Order: sequence, then structure tokens, then C-alpha cells
Amino acid sequence: METMEPTGLLSARGVVKSYWKGRNEVPVLRGVDLDLEPGEMLAIMGASGSGKSTLLHILGLLDSPDAGEVVLGGERIDTYRDRRRDELRNRTFGFIFQFYHLLPELTAFENVLVPQWIGCGLWSYLSQRRRLKREAEMLLERVGLSHRMHHLPSELSGGEMQRTAIARALAARPSVLLADEPTGNLDAASGQGVIELLRDLNRERGLTMIVVTHDPQIAQQADRVVRLAEGRVEEWSPALA
Ligand code: ADP
Ligand code: MG
Repeated sequence: METMEPTGLLSARGVVKSYWKGRNEVPVLRGVDLDLEPGEMLAIMGASGSGKSTLLHILGLLDSPDAGEVVLGGERIDTYRDRRRDELRNRTFGFIFQFYHLLPELTAFENVLVPQWIGCGLWSYLSQRRRLKREAEMLLERVGLSHRMHHLPSELSGGEMQRTAIARALAARPSVLLADEPTGNLDAASGQGVIELLRDLNRERGLTMIVVTHDPQIAQQADRVVRLAEGRVEEWSPALA
């Protein structure tokens, strides 16, 4: 097999992943090579079922490849276990999902704070809570939700819920933001608002991000677009879609 040195901040090298349906192996990724440069906003397109979520989960250590490697800053990370793996997942990577995954009984403000409670441990949280609360407020202001901070998710629009999820992801100060169809459940105008927010955050903080989408309008706002097809990644221009 041909081997190449990883060059980017985050790389996939020959990533292979299959699922099993009974005795049948269903190949999803058949050797994905991908390099993400620091500060880059990359869009991954591809038909439904092409393996976009699978690839994102493998890059962010939510899942493991059957073969191949994930490399972060020159170091292989897919083989990390336990604490080191949790730490990367919680601190280095930030995740945004199509259906927001907010806790319904907590306000937007509390949803942004929850990962800090869990991540810090109680005593550490208590000693830092004033700063963490101020940061949560500032993040919610930044995503345009100062007037909705103390609302429950059920009182928010889809776009507002996704903005809350973005603020929550940013609270842990990730170096790489992984967004899986962040506009997939939104109307066109709210979706455009969310992608513009991500674009602005990418520019103003140099935050590296991958945005999975099947919407060419969304994808073309990224720096670069790749497409997943037949288990591999290829460079892509949304103008071709
Ligand atoms: P996409 O995000 O591009 O729609 P996915 O990565 O979710 O695609 O899924 C790719 C393929 O893998 C699909 O055929 C899906 O049914 C299958 N798949 C995904 N997750 C699992 C799983 N946990 N078990 C079995 N099959 C799965
Ligand atoms: Mg998906």
C-alpha cells in the first residue's frame, strides 16, 4: 500500500470501516485519505449513507477505524485509549449535531455550562464557576442569544437551538470543530445564519472546522469541499453538483 506522510493538523490515512449486517460485511469507508490544515474550514459532501457521519466520528474519536490511521499534529491518535482518548474528545474536538442534543430540562445557559461541570469535576467547577458562567454568557452573546439565555430548548427555534449547541461546543475551547449536518434540520434562512456564524467563528478565532452537509449552497461557503463517494474522498467543486 502506498504511504504518505500526514501534512495537516488532522489527517486520515487509508481509513477503512465496515459495518456488519448479520454475516454480511457492508463496507462504508474503503481507504479515506484526508488532510485538514490549521484554520481551514472544510466541507464534506456526499449522498445520504455515503459514510459522512462515520468518517466524522472516526476523526473525532467517537468511533475507531478497522484499518488506517487518524493523525493529529503528527501523532497517531486513533489508538489512544481511556483517559487520553476522553481528553482529546472533550478538549480538542468540539461536536455539533443535526439534532442539537441539548438537555431539554435545562436552559440554554445551563446547557452551555454542563460540559464544564462534567469536565472540571465539582470542586474545580465550584472554584471557577464565576469565570465559567461569565464565559458561557459571553458565548451565548456571541452566537446572538443574549435574550434567550434562560429559555428552555422547547422555547427556542431550531436555529436558536443550534446556536446554543455551538456555544456549548466552544465553551471547551476546542481546536477542531466537527459539525455533522448542522443546518440539516433548519429552514434555508436559519441554516444560512448558522453557516455564517460558523464561518465568522472560523475567521475570527482561526478555529479549524469540518462541516458535513449534503447542501451545495452550504458547502460552497467553506474554504474547500471534498466529496465522499464509494468509500473514498475526492476534491469537489459544489458548482458541479
Ligand atoms: P451518512 O452520514 O453519509 O448519511 P453514515 O456514516 O451515517 O452515512 O452511514 C454510512 C452507512 O453505514 C449507511 O449505510 C449506514 O446504514 C451504515 N451504518 C452507519 N452506522 C451504522 C451502525 N452503527 N451499524 C450498522 N450500520 C451502520
Ligand atoms: Mg450522517
